Amino acid sequence: MEQMILAKCGEIVLKGLNRSQFDQRLMKNIKLSLQELGEFSLQMAQSTVYIRALGAEDMDEAFERVKRVFGLAAVCKAYTCEKNMEAISALAKECLYEAFADAKTFKVEAKRSDKRFPLQSPEICKEIGGVILSHYPNVKVDVHHPDVTVTVEVRDFGAYIHAVREQGAGGMPYGSNGHAGLLLSGGIDSPVAGYMIAKRGVSLTGIHFQSPPYTGERAKQKVVSLAEILKGYCPDLRLLAVHFTEVQEAIRDHCKEEYFTVIMRRFMMRVANELSKKWHCGALITGESLGQVASQTMDALRLTDSVTDSLILRPLIGMDKEEIVRISRKIGTFETSIQPYEDCCTVFTPKHPKTKPTLKEIAFEEAKLDIEGLVARAVEQTERIEL
Ligand code: ATP
Ligand code: MG
Repeated sequence: MEQMILAKCGEIVLKGLNRSQFDQRLMKNIKLSLQELGEFSLQMAQSTVYIRALGAEDMDEAFERVKRVFGLAAVCKAYTCEKNMEAISALAKECLYEAFADAKTFKVEAKRSDKRFPLQSPEICKEIGGVILSHYPNVKVDVHHPDVTVTVEVRDFGAYIHAVREQGAGGMPYGSNGHAGLLLSGGIDSPVAGYMIAKRGVSLTGIHFQSPPYTGERAKQKVVSLAEILKGYCPDLRLLAVHFTEVQEAIRDHCKEEYFTVIMRRFMMRVANELSKKWHCGALITGESLGQVASQTMDALRLTDSVTDSLILRPLIGMDKEEIVRISRKIGTFETSIQPYEDCCTVFTPKHPKTKPTLKEIAFEEAKLDIEGLVARAVEQTERIEL
């Protein structure tokens, strides 16, 4: 009994003339996601990718990985056999134990795109339904609300049965929609923000600001772990670490304490803006959510935006913390994000931050600093971390 995976395309089926570019990208991403597990052959037809292991690969792990590939609406655990009713019936008797483990009712659906196949879809359903009823004594037919839908597909290059169907990751194929820089802290929000934009097909470069010795090795390791989890969705994710100590010390030594946070965030944006040119990013992404903290009011966001000409994407802007946490759990970053290590944002935080700083006040404070030199040195000292 040969197990396979059938991956059903999502939104890309709505694409017109440039559809094939999206298809190719999707196939490449599926291949990349399976690369470590062994050799697989992939074939696309009827908006479905047929994934076959060429050796005895771990198909359960492969299934989990394909579920994380953006651009897929559903992923099915399937079995394949020769294209005749005898073989399909024999397979049905063998392959449905897992799917029927907790089921009381089922129905059969048939999809027949090979029009030379002697039976039509309703006849296939009837015959395989009969086989199942006589072979699996615990299940009955319910065509309206079945616990399990058994699908028989008769395609040009083979016959397939599947009954385990899970939701795919949705979105657009990773890398089909440009590239952006993700300001990645060790918190809950920014990995979720990156995930959401990657889901729309945008490939990512992570940009992390660290301030050793105020931030330690374990804080850095935490961000590396988060990036590694994100890599499960973003196959070619790269991570840059910016040395931000000099900037933060300069702000501490020369600027009024109540403005520290806003000025620091403006420096982050300036440095990220330079890095985004170097790495060809079409936008910068942050995990900010309106009103979450003092630096995320509309006024504060405008002050940080005004130092760059980059497009700033804030996919969490209208979300509550609870909603963000839910996604963070779903994508697997939550447990890492809540580890208690320091972030450079929490170094030198003012006791009484100014709630409504004006651009004039900020400009006055920043004039005390060598802005260009500080930014240039931070960019120059940025290192790439291997994931
Ligand atoms: P998060 O959970 O993402 O840390 P937060 O609510 O703690 O978010 P802030 O610390 O104000 O918010 O940061 C807002 C955004 O700024 C983050 O979502 C992230 O995009 C960016 N950011 C903050 N600190 C860093 C950092 N050390 N390196 C890179 N980006 C950062
Ligand atoms: Mg943070």
